[in-house]
Amino acid sequence: MKEEELHRKGYMIDEAVSLDLPLRRVVQKLYEAAVAKVNKPLCLAAAEKIAEKTRKGDTIFIITGFPVVSKDVCETDGPPGAAVLAKTLMSIGIKLVMVTDELCFDVVSAGALKIPVVKYPVDNETAKETAEELFSAHSPSVLVSIERPGWNEKQEYHTMSGVNISNMVGKTDHLFGYARKIGVTTIAMGDGGNELGCGSIIETVRKHVPYGAKCQCPCGKGIAATTPSDVLVVGGTSNWGAYGIAACLSLLKDLNYRHNGKSESRLLSYIINAGGVDSVTKDSQPFVDGVPTPINKLVVDLIWSITNA
Ligand SMILES: [Zn+2]
Repeated sequence: MKEEELHRKGYMIDEAVSLDLPLRRVVQKLYEAAVAKVNKPLCLAAAEKIAEKTRKGDTIFIITGFPVVSKDVCETDGPPGAAVLAKTLMSIGIKLVMVTDELCFDVVSAGALKIPVVKYPVDNETAKETAEELFSAHSPSVLVSIERPGWNEKQEYHTMSGVNISNMVGKTDHLFGYARKIGVTTIAMGDGGNELGCGSIIETVRKHVPYGAKCQCPCGKGIAATTPSDVLVVGGTSNWGAYGIAACLSLLKDLNYRHNGKSESRLLSYIINAGGVDSVTKDSQPFVDGVPTPINKLVVDLIWSITNA
């Protein structure tokens, strides 16, 4: 595909992916801040980075899973995006390891096909050691996080409502920290600024996101995540961001991009059956960030049709 055509589609995919249908009213500001870092469509920038940094047979870590507090289970945003991106990466010969924690394990595993899923520890010292162990066992070329809690400057994890969830989150910030130390590329997807990798736009998050600068917990340092990423994709939901990257990767590698509304329904049913709940309604239904099923499917179909047009 010609460069010009690729960019035209890349912009359209970004437009679909970044629709603020969950009505958080912060997506546009976060999106603009992320684009200013790379000066091109975000999903395309992430796909190009993956293509540049990987060869057939390489390994990528996908880190996902965000707990819903009162339910103590994983939300529906994250694992479906991880599943679709993983499938696309496998079709170009990339090996995968999924990383989550105890609380999100069942839901992440439900979407993970036969990919190994690692339960990442909550304890800080063990979490630090686990980063080194996983790198030495798999030598990943790229790390991708999709809707994964990111710690603030006091290494505390929070929900969008400013509630502290540090006691239930595996400290996967150590993985990004280690990657940065040894020069391994990191790519992140977020939709609220409290996710792993959103440290790249921390000032925007502090300024525009409710609880960004001040949380509801005694740490008082806000929900803004501090750990940065090399490319940050901001979407209306993080799933859409991951689909957008899979779509752009398909364009770059001349693959057939297949994920549409129908396969989205099937994927969400696996996630719900494994215990996943919608982060807004907190119900066990195939909503994503409060976006009802038919609307979510429209966006998924829109990404599909832009990619295959
Ligand atoms: Zn706090």
